[in-house]
Amino acid sequence: MVASLLAAWLFVEAGPVAANPGFAATPARTAAATTVLDREAAPRCPQTVAHCFGLDVHVAATDGRPVATPDWLDGQVAEANRHFAAIGVGFEIASVTAIASHYAHVATRKQRDRIGHEPGRRKRQGLIRLFVVARLDDVDKPGEQIRGVHWRRRQNIKQRWIILSTIARPMVLAHELGHYFGLPHATHPKSIMNKRKRKHPPPHARTFTTPELAILRRERDAAVTSGHLVPRR
Ligand SMILES: [Zn+2]
Repeated sequence: MVASLLAAWLFVEAGPVAANPGFAATPARTAAATTVLDREAAPRCPQTVAHCFGLDVHVAATDGRPVATPDWLDGQVAEANRHFAAIGVGFEIASVTAIASHYAHVATRKQRDRIGHEPGRRKRQGLIRLFVVARLDDVDKPGEQIRGVHWRRRQNIKQRWIILSTIARPMVLAHELGHYFGLPHATHPKSIMNKRKRKHPPPHARTFTTPELAILRRERDAAVTSGHLVPRR
């Protein structure tokens, strides 16, 4: 369902991007940093949720190809919607933009700052900003990589965004959105904010705990009241 949407991932800031295998062919253009969205094909917030928030997605492209597949992104959004349904929140893709290949590997804190604050990059207000890269290094453990991060720009911590690596399993966006809405890491076995490897409960049975849901509700309302997020319906 998302394939036709992401067929529109055409452009990096330096020039046109070729379609990935599985992406429908789309006419080339020359505009820089173009955002294209097929609203009919985009995954939408579930009808049942009261609060629908948009994702402003930026995908790195290497050798002219987006580093993530449409199915991968669809899986992340679907899993986030599954976990946030408990507080009446859903997410949908508002836009997809391809970004330059030097962001495919985010190795340093400076690059994490930079990816969301590149001069000239169009900022869409009221949306959650999500960057997708091929490799996201652990800045605390040289040589290791992580699956995702909720990052606050060090020069202005009010500016924040999520960076996901394509190695991320489907639950990672939901985990990072948990941070986005105020949650720290947890020790409760059921919580998806618990990063410890464990057998029980099995991954499909993990979600947010009741105390976590209370924080998520509070932060959801605060984000809307302040205008940081603008509900889409
Ligand atoms: Zn975390």
